[in-house]
Amino acid sequence: MSTTALDGIGLLVTGSPEYRDGSPLGEITDAALVVDEDGRVAWVGSSRQAPAADFHVGAAGRCVVPGFVDSHSHLVFAGDRAAEFDARMAGRRYEAGGIRTTVAATRAATDAELAANLARLVAEMRRQGTTTIEIKSGYGLTVRDEARSLAIARQFTEETTYLGAHVVPEGSDPDEYVALVTGAMLEAAAPYARWIDVFCERGAFDEDQARTVLAAGAATGLRGRLHANQLGPGPGVRLAAELGLVAVDHCTYLDDTDVAALADSGTVATLLPGVEFSTRQPYPDARRLLDAGVRVAIASDCNPGSSYTSSMPLCVALAVREMRMTPAEATYAATAGGAAALDRADVGRLAPGSRADLVLLEAPSHVHLAYRPGVPLVAATWLSGRP
Ligand SMILES: [Zn+2]
Repeated sequence: MSTTALDGIGLLVTGSPEYRDGSPLGEITDAALVVDEDGRVAWVGSSRQAPAADFHVGAAGRCVVPGFVDSHSHLVFAGDRAAEFDARMAGRRYEAGGIRTTVAATRAATDAELAANLARLVAEMRRQGTTTIEIKSGYGLTVRDEARSLAIARQFTEETTYLGAHVVPEGSDPDEYVALVTGAMLEAAAPYARWIDVFCERGAFDEDQARTVLAAGAATGLRGRLHANQLGPGPGVRLAAELGLVAVDHCTYLDDTDVAALADSGTVATLLPGVEFSTRQPYPDARRLLDAGVRVAIASDCNPGSSYTSSMPLCVALAVREMRMTPAEATYAATAGGAAALDRADVGRLAPGSRADLVLLEAPSHVHLAYRPGVPLVAATWLSGRP
């Protein structure tokens, strides 16, 4: 049984209200952090007051932030869509149907191939400071392929999401497909999933279909989340608020009613700026949401079609530059915000009791995440107190 002290931290971002110092992040300068034998934070505070510990690691004046919580990704797939991206950058518009290309490649891949691609992407995320990852299915769209996608995702994270309702597969009748998603496919997927999600968008699933899918998921104990209002205005955000879902993701096209509904319900609006970057769509207005009192998270939406970045630091930089967030707001949204979007109290902050999931930045401040975009600032990522 041993404890480890990380000391010599130039600036510690706790993300925790009890350490508020006027900044929304709860920052402590010249700080130390002690990890207990269970990989939990035992103590944070000024270096000078740090309690004794069995081992010491020096942070050499670096900034330490909570590990990023990426609450939205689609990492179980095969193939890539570089040609589609290339064409889109040459002027073609993004449409939801491109998903079907990845579906064909994913169905044709072996379990080992899917797991190897997933492991590669998770390693990429770890190197960039992400410590909690939500992973969705949604490129199988058959009973067998959705279930195995989730079983593979479960090897990497507890935060798995059944997204059989991603798109109606080629040649399927929409009503028959919804019956499958809420029937045999749900039954096969549920043992490996914590969440259920629907792409509620023109070209994917409408409001009634989304209600049906979410209700069926709830009946098997899966909690709901939604992809909504990405490609245009729609009913998804209001539906998420009405149902009291933990989070609704994209939120690019919102009217005043949508914003008010989010503020009232407490549903987290998860913004995915990698998508707008990669599709040349207008960015969501985070400033409007924050000013209305809406809880905001940032996530990567890492997927081979609309956002093939695994980088939370890039998403933070985009949120600041393109979505009118302050650096502190963006860092908070990528850590504590992501934790709220997954209804997790043990990650996304560094305070006694939370998991010692953290990032040492090769920088004196978290501001550098946005100030130095594209620069590999992550010096080390710790999971449960271990590098
Ligand atoms: Zn997505």
